[in-house]
Amino acid sequence: MNISKSDYVLGLKCPNAIWFKKFRKDLQQELNTAILERSTAVGELACEKYPGGVRITAKPWESAAITQTRQAIANNAPFIYEATLATDTGEYCAVDILQNNNDGTWNIIEVKSTTHPHDYHYLDASFQRYVFAKCGVQIRNCYILTLNPEYVRHGELDIQALFSAHDVTADLQDIDTVTTEVARIREILNGPELGIAISKTKCNKFYECGYKCHCWRDIPPYSVFDAFRGALADEVYAKYGADLHNIPDDLYTSQMHAGDIEAFLNNTEIVNPDILHDFTDRLQWPLYFLDYESIMPAVPMFDNSRPYQQICFQFSLHVQRVPGGELEHYEYLHNVASTDPRPGLIKRLIETIGYTGSVIVYNQGFEQGRNTEMARDFPEYADNLLAINDRMLDLLMPFRGRGLYRPCQRGSASIKQTLPAFVPDMSYANMGIHNGTEASEQFMDFMTGRQTAEQTATMMQNLHDYCGQDTMAMVKLLDVVQNKC
Ligand code: SF4
Repeated sequence: MNISKSDYVLGLKCPNAIWFKKFRKDLQQELNTAILERSTAVGELACEKYPGGVRITAKPWESAAITQTRQAIANNAPFIYEATLATDTGEYCAVDILQNNNDGTWNIIEVKSTTHPHDYHYLDASFQRYVFAKCGVQIRNCYILTLNPEYVRHGELDIQALFSAHDVTADLQDIDTVTTEVARIREILNGPELGIAISKTKCNKFYECGYKCHCWRDIPPYSVFDAFRGALADEVYAKYGADLHNIPDDLYTSQMHAGDIEAFLNNTEIVNPDILHDFTDRLQWPLYFLDYESIMPAVPMFDNSRPYQQICFQFSLHVQRVPGGELEHYEYLHNVASTDPRPGLIKRLIETIGYTGSVIVYNQGFEQGRNTEMARDFPEYADNLLAINDRMLDLLMPFRGRGLYRPCQRGSASIKQTLPAFVPDMSYANMGIHNGTEASEQFMDFMTGRQTAEQTATMMQNLHDYCGQDTMAMVKLLDVVQNKC
């Protein structure tokens, strides 16, 4: 059986996962095309850093890819893009860029669309070095090429500065270790389906496993895995199972969120008026309820922006000028594709948010961080933006501090949990956009010209509704906090 690079990483993560991948096609998850497209685009751009190479055009799983690679090596090509080889025993992989050192040795350059190498990237590169070494290619160094988080775009993209090469040669698994691991994976694949062994640490190692909807299907919605941290959750699960009703009291009373567990077991609500007062005492009228939506382009699209910088394209602002007064609503939603949304958004924000009164957000780190970045990137507006930060109050705090908590929140104080818990008639379920990730992905499609006019019109209406709902949710949640004081 053939073993690819992703099979290898999956096999190291979990025996169940590699077995499912090979034999349970019915469990396969849909690939996230947005992530795939982003990786492909970054990979192609990276090749421009190493120009003049030969591209292998056949797919890695086609034998023609190996023939083309062998030919390019024999021709002493300076770089080979998507160089592909396979061992006699069926381990195969493609290398993003194979660099010729012109002394009989080659370097592996693996491109990742992240800003630093992740743990499993080292396993990828270890497997690549193993395959190429077994195929008789002498590898000198291995590099992981990532986007450079310090790069700031000014004008045309500077490809040399956009990427950072990390020499990981000394940090890879040696050939003997990879040989042993490959043999272990083959043993798993030659055997019958294994009993499923879930574990919080394993199932979330490297990334959240795509088979969780199968393996975790009998785990209750709020379980020991929510109530306890990683390794401790695994210990508790091994001893008592997933259901919190089965654990002894003394096991959770010392936990940070023991109150959450107690509220769940007794089906009671937590109300701590001191914590709620702490928040409401700091309110200053008028109240401005603010929420941003943003995109996060891997490759900077605009001047004065960096890889993966959050670029705000929309805000919603509900304003209440006096207690019990009518609500006013203001917003900005950028509507010109391929152009920087920030200048228009900042101007509109400064026009509408006034100079006094509390600016209420939910999860202050996000809005405050965006304002700080926009102040840095547009210094002409810095004073105004930083003054808005000085007025911010975080409505998350009374919920995170457990001033208010209901068991249906399942241990989370995010607005997606607190809103249905305390304002059940307001829901995101029937909206055209349900969360920030969807908002971001759809707006990126618009910005990069991948929508029809009709799709754009629908998306704009959905974004208007979604972001407006976020600030209206804060208005309602503040009412709840004030009423419980
Ligand atoms: S969900 Fe966990 S047990 Fe199941 S395949 Fe993934 S890592 Fe393995």
